[in-house]
Amino acid sequence: MRFETIFLIGGASASAGALLVWLAIRARLGRVTQNLRMRDWALAHQAAEHADRQMLFQAAMEHGPQVVVRLDASGHPVYISPSCRPVFGYGPADMPKCFGADLMHFAADTCLRVRHRDGRTLAIHAQSHRLPDEQGVVLLLTDVTAHQNAEARLSDARVQLAQRAERDGLTGLANRDCFLAAVERALAGKEEVAVFLVDLDRFRQIHDRLGHDASDSVLREVAARLTLAMVGEPLVARLGDDDFAVLLRAADGDAPLAARARDLIRMLEPPVPTGTATAKIGASIGIAAGPRDGTHATALLRAADIAMTHARAAGGNTYRFFESHMAHAMERADELRRELPGAIAAGEIVPYFQPLVRIDDTSVVGFEVLARWEHPILGVLPPIDFLSLVEETGQSAAMFGSLLVCACQAARDWPAHIKLSVNISPIELQDETLPDTVRDILESTGFCGDRLEVEITENALIHDAKVARQVLDRLRQLGLSVALDDFGTGFSSLYHLRELPFDKVKIDKVFMRGLVSDPEASRYVAAIVDFGHALGLDLTAEGIEDTETMNRLRELGCTFGQGYLFGKPMPAEAARSMVTANRIAQMAAE
Ligand code: C2E
Ligand code: CA
Ligand code: CA
Repeated sequence: MRFETIFLIGGASASAGALLVWLAIRARLGRVTQNLRMRDWALAHQAAEHADRQMLFQAAMEHGPQVVVRLDASGHPVYISPSCRPVFGYGPADMPKCFGADLMHFAADTCLRVRHRDGRTLAIHAQSHRLPDEQGVVLLLTDVTAHQNAEARLSDARVQLAQRAERDGLTGLANRDCFLAAVERALAGKEEVAVFLVDLDRFRQIHDRLGHDASDSVLREVAARLTLAMVGEPLVARLGDDDFAVLLRAADGDAPLAARARDLIRMLEPPVPTGTATAKIGASIGIAAGPRDGTHATALLRAADIAMTHARAAGGNTYRFFESHMAHAMERADELRRELPGAIAAGEIVPYFQPLVRIDDTSVVGFEVLARWEHPILGVLPPIDFLSLVEETGQSAAMFGSLLVCACQAARDWPAHIKLSVNISPIELQDETLPDTVRDILESTGFCGDRLEVEITENALIHDAKVARQVLDRLRQLGLSVALDDFGTGFSSLYHLRELPFDKVKIDKVFMRGLVSDPEASRYVAAIVDFGHALGLDLTAEGIEDTETMNRLRELGCTFGQGYLFGKPMPAEAARSMVTANRIAQMAAE
């Protein structure tokens, strides 16, 4: 500012040439002035910064989270920052001797445990900086205890989470994902392994009858018994619902596996107390061995699942090894399941008719309507191939409707004394709209209601007997009669026979086997016949295959019969010819 003013005054009296010189000098002087100003500022700044740093350093040394220690060349502490008090509970002067010895270890950039004055153990992390010219070492000590604790808690939480992702919450067994991973690892390691798929035979009923809590305690008990029975095997898991699985070593072939399966079934046999009741469980076990039956976990499990459905179909409480033909049956069932809706709509599921005869003169009194699938490629399929698929896909009502329409249309013009018997599944008997469907079909086909009989199995009555009763009552109002099918094979027969409006009992075909040769079987059937008569019911014996059995039934007083002896289930046309020719009556006469 000062120089500028002087030259401005001088410059005012100068010539034009001098003006240029002046301008040049001014520019140069301007730069010098600026440099001088910057130096002033920098000096002032440096001083302030030094003071600041001093202050900051002081604060850090006293209150900072780090403790600064200087060790001399022989490792003795020559300076300890006052911040050691908040960290260790000791000031620089009253630091115990042992602390000095500990410090030696810190020189190696490490994490050590140090005791606080109040007794706590601290985790201290140290960073060391070696000073030049053998002047010793500066250590920066940081208390990382809280950080380490948080880390430990976090990793505990991670372990728990990981465990939860692998465990079944109810039983504590491994879950499906964990099981599949273990099987996959074993197969990848070229181990010979086997998988047991264990399905509880009566779990659904237990759940429906005893409720959620009781079924949970059954599952826990099963888990415990499984674990006990399979001690020494690699893994026991619960895959979901009542499906359990075991991974086993299988280097010694199938025989030891079969023995283990038998052991397991025996272990699961004793009833489980559930607080209010005891539950009898029983198990069906499917066995698949890898790599023979599958080289991947999912394939092996599927094979075991297929084998398990065969064990279940064999009546449960047993085991089956997977066999390749089972897979074909399964694939076929999958295909049929896909085709089913189209087949019902296209009328491929048709009624076949099996004659019901009066035993004393073998005259035809009616026909049982039995479903057949006239498959365009596979030919005529029996109900066992598709009935369960119909039920499982919720198409029972649709199939029942289309069958009844066809049957009524076919039999409408047959002699009026010829009745039709149709089977009603337990599911349909729970459908309150069933009587309306039947009424509509009777109206539309012109088939008279008193020529129609429904056959229900005892098992249909254990679901909701109240709804069943209502449905049956309304069917009877339409003129229908009701037969109790497969008598002697189900539950609580006497009770239902008294409570529900039956007109007829059909004695199951299992009692026909050996009826002639086995006095025991004979006594049994005699008792059922007497009992039916006492209740004023008609009796039909199913499964009559030979004349001797028919004659024995006649002696026992059974009125009606059905079986291959009189005719197999046949298409409508064949049934019509049979009625008109009355061929069976001729057979009896021969
Ligand atoms: P079911 O009601 O007990 O029918 C009698 C079964 O015994 C029929 O089997 C019949 O063909 C067979 N049978 C008849 N006489 C003899 C004989 O002398 N010896 C032997 N060994 N068997 C004989 P099918 O037609 O295979 O039907 C099996 C079951 O499928 C039926 O047993 C019935 O429970 C069910 N079913 C059939 N059609 C229908 C239907 O339209 N609806 C429902 N819900 N179930 C049906
Ligand atoms: Ca039947
Ligand atoms: Ca039957």
